[in-house]
Amino acid sequence: MINFNIAPFIGTELNYIKQAVDNKKICGDGEFTKRCDAWMEQRFGAKKILLTTSGSTALDMAALLCGLKPGDEVILPSFTFSSTANSFVLAGAKLVFVDIRPDTMNIDETKIEAAITDRTKVICAMHYAGVACEMDTIMDIARRHNLLVVEDAAQGVMSTYKGRALGTIGDIGCYSFHETKNYSMGEGGAIVLNREEDIEKAEILREKGTNRAKFFRGQVDKYTWVDFGDSFLPSELNAAYLWAQLEVADEINNDRLATWNAYYKAFAPLAAAGKIELPTIPDTCVHNAHMFYLKCKDLDERTRFIAHMRERGVACVFHYVPLHSAPAGKKFGRFAGEDRYTTSESDRLVRLPMYYHLTAEDRQTVIDAVLAFYA
Ligand SMILES: *Cc1c(COP(=O)(O)O)cnc(C)c1O
Repeated sequence: MINFNIAPFIGTELNYIKQAVDNKKICGDGEFTKRCDAWMEQRFGAKKILLTTSGSTALDMAALLCGLKPGDEVILPSFTFSSTANSFVLAGAKLVFVDIRPDTMNIDETKIEAAITDRTKVICAMHYAGVACEMDTIMDIARRHNLLVVEDAAQGVMSTYKGRALGTIGDIGCYSFHETKNYSMGEGGAIVLNREEDIEKAEILREKGTNRAKFFRGQVDKYTWVDFGDSFLPSELNAAYLWAQLEVADEINNDRLATWNAYYKAFAPLAAAGKIELPTIPDTCVHNAHMFYLKCKDLDERTRFIAHMRERGVACVFHYVPLHSAPAGKKFGRFAGEDRYTTSESDRLVRLPMYYHLTAEDRQTVIDAVLAFYA
């Protein structure tokens, strides 16, 4: 069976984990966490990046930093992972779902403005498949209406929009290093802080409400409980695992892109013949090959496609059940405007195996199986 995903493993991880153990520092914010944070800040041109225990908790921190009050509204797509929504529910907000664009499956920026009310405080842009939302338009709407922008860039590490790293464009960005993402630490993530005023607040929030980060920098002579907080910092063992991958981030990226491009080239004739649809990458976006999906004719064809692929030894998956149609989505939110594409497009979407070091042989097996289905 060709797996749908295999967590990245470079080979240097165990050595780095051993180093963390030898350093006698396995709790958070040691050598490896600092290396990961600094590497990302430099590479992505970010003011401040802090590792977190997951992409979900990075989003939790982001939502808490937005200073939401009960009844405040957050605009987000319905076609996203539950974590995007959970964080704003945790912060007490109401969810307002907006339709997506069928070409990128990202929030339709032209439908955001109509969903704004006098309770709206935040727009959350989720960059699906590591392909950026139309950020210039979203930032312009946000500035004109005095709203904050949170980027759920869980899938967008190493992707850019007009040359800028995803996560660094809005007010706050969030990355995930879950084992299903391009770079992994098992469970983990990072928060990207693009506003100076959030940095100290985020450090306090992440370290149980204490000013411990300031203490370690020698800026205060004792540390104390200064505000509400929680524990959002990952173990050094996880950071050591991630560091092994960040060191070779370009190699991982290029390997994934090679698979993505091979799929795209092989299926272009099917798309030209109108049998399937392929992802669109706008000219403004450089993506990271986080996933390869195609769209079948309809739900019925997709069900048959997945069964056919399974028979041929290829694991394919689909997602997401639109949040507005899920029990929690009904409880915590509402859909603004018409669901023109969210449900119909998510019903047709199917993802092919995509991971670092997918062999050329396995790639060909996947391609042959897809071509055979449509032959
Ligand atoms: C993976 C993912 C998350 C959550 O990340 P975890 O690290 O698994 O908590 C959030 N949003 C999106 C869009 C994701 O794909």
